[in-house]
Amino acid sequence: MTTRRTFIQIVPIAGIALLAAQRAGAAEVDPKDPQAVALGYVSDASKVDKAKYPKFAAGQNCATCQLYQGKAGDASGGCPLFAGKTVAAKGWCSAYAKKA
Ligand code: SF4
Repeated sequence: MTTRRTFIQIVPIAGIALLAAQRAGAAEVDPKDPQAVALGYVSDASKVDKAKYPKFAAGQNCATCQLYQGKAGDASGGCPLFAGKTVAAKGWCSAYAKKA
């Protein structure tokens, strides 16, 4: 039987576990995800549809984007546009903004 007290103890633990999971092994964004499609996200910047996104220039990728939260050398990292997921360092989307 789950008492109210047990429930109160479980909830914060579940929350912390969820946060830890997001940090440690957040899944990479699926380019077919509706949000990814809307932003023109690709996991490999060399595959950007240049006809559709003429502002794309060689050298642009998530690793050089202001919004990218991964560290230099990481294969992927967080991006506020895809909460709870990670984006590929060599990915790209139409919201790209060059790191200052
Ligand atoms: Fe990558 Fe920047 Fe687009 Fe986020 S906003 S997916 S870091 S290019």
